[in-house]
Amino acid sequence: MIRRFINKVFGNTSRSKAAAGPRILPLAAHGIRREQIHPCALKTTRALKEAGFSAFVVGGAVRDLLLGREPKDFDVATNALPEQVRQVFRRSRLIGRRFQIVHVYCGADTIEVTTYRAASAEKEVESDEEDDSRVTAADGMLLRDNVFGSQAEDAERRDFTVNALYYDPETEEVWEWHGGVEDARKKVLRIIGDPVQRFREDPVRMLRAARFAAKLDFHIDPATRAPIAELASMLERIPSARLFDEMMKLLLSGHAERGVRQLRAEGLHHGILPMLDAILDDANRQKFLHAALHDTDERVREGHSASPAFMLACLLWFDMEAEWRRNQATGQSDQAALYDAMDAVLERQRDALAFPRRFDGTIKEIWSLQSRFEQRSGARPFRLLSHPRFRAGYDFLLIRAKGGDAAQELADWWTRFPDASDSEREAMLIKPQPGTAKPKRRRSRRKPDGEAAIEVKLG
Ligand code: ATP
Ligand code: MG
Repeated sequence: MIRRFINKVFGNTSRSKAAAGPRILPLAAHGIRREQIHPCALKTTRALKEAGFSAFVVGGAVRDLLLGREPKDFDVATNALPEQVRQVFRRSRLIGRRFQIVHVYCGADTIEVTTYRAASAEKEVESDEEDDSRVTAADGMLLRDNVFGSQAEDAERRDFTVNALYYDPETEEVWEWHGGVEDARKKVLRIIGDPVQRFREDPVRMLRAARFAAKLDFHIDPATRAPIAELASMLERIPSARLFDEMMKLLLSGHAERGVRQLRAEGLHHGILPMLDAILDDANRQKFLHAALHDTDERVREGHSASPAFMLACLLWFDMEAEWRRNQATGQSDQAALYDAMDAVLERQRDALAFPRRFDGTIKEIWSLQSRFEQRSGARPFRLLSHPRFRAGYDFLLIRAKGGDAAQELADWWTRFPDASDSEREAMLIKPQPGTAKPKRRRSRRKPDGEAAIEVKLG
């Protein structure tokens, strides 16, 4: 119903366009020069062509070059079968089981080579021994997707028009099947084919739409956008590990602030990251989240790495703090309250999100360092400086200060302290007033030496 309505209103021609063959654009029409292609990708396409196959640079790299951005990585698509690709390159390896790709190595670089794939899922295929290559569930979700095909078919199974561009470094031509070059110029993110069908096949494409729109600063074409709100709940059935990966791509893309705004605008933020729901419904938490996303975006754009653990520590901080306080109120010692809170919050999230346990250690360290920043007398600040996670803990403190969750004065103090001279540091230390009670800190039920006990054991 929705599909028919959308087709009627917006037209749905991008798939039928492919029947006419590719539009081949010369250098003057797109401006991507051979020298902009990674030497390893050049070597790969050249060798495949010399062996008699067709080979193109494809996907995100062509899109990014077209937009004047630096590609993250270069992928190659070819009509050679994986085994044939293997035979062309001495230094290469078959990866994956169900859908094999080949990694071609040049020095330290790797190029991913995929054989053209076909997957239209237009007809439902029963899962049986003979043909289990393309299987869809009753609701149209693509369960398996591993048939080789032509370049036309390969283009058709890609998600967005700007992601279905093929660049031939030898001729410096772009082959397009779905109008991606024009869409890039107009900054439109348009799904290939029928939006309802494509989102049903793979609901993660909805998240990808939000991610690319944010990253590329595109707007989502109205026909592509129209069914998203209604189909958003299909994301509930995506395995949580895949959702987690996709969300981390969005949050660590360098465009997370805009990405989260885009998710909200599309009604996609419910249910994918439960803590995101809670954060976005609360003004204080929102302020903190935006400080965290802003900061992470800046770091990524400056070429630094951003870690999933740090992002998770940010996203879950309020839950953890609330739980910590609740535990303290029941009479637990400060340290026990903290440990229990950290474990409880991480376990709850794991049920919902299946994020890997390997992040737990870092997340807990970042959290447990926070109260140690409040201790600014004696030898403690010096000990904290040499903690292996000092930097991550400090970055987290800065975000808390920006988000209104810690005193700016405290953050500034820790900005100055590491670089200060010995005498300056001495002067900065907060001296306990003789004869007066110890200054009451937040969570001051800690034993005098509690700080050491608060160190987190890595699991
Ligand atoms: P990025 O720069 O963020 O990596 P990308 O376009 O390279 O962007 P990838 O997730 O690396 O994105 O995927 C590579 C290509 O594979 C895409 O350009 C797209 O053509 C295709 N693709 C990836 N995921 C899907 C999907 N869920 N449905 C259809 N096509 C997809
Ligand atoms: Mg990519």
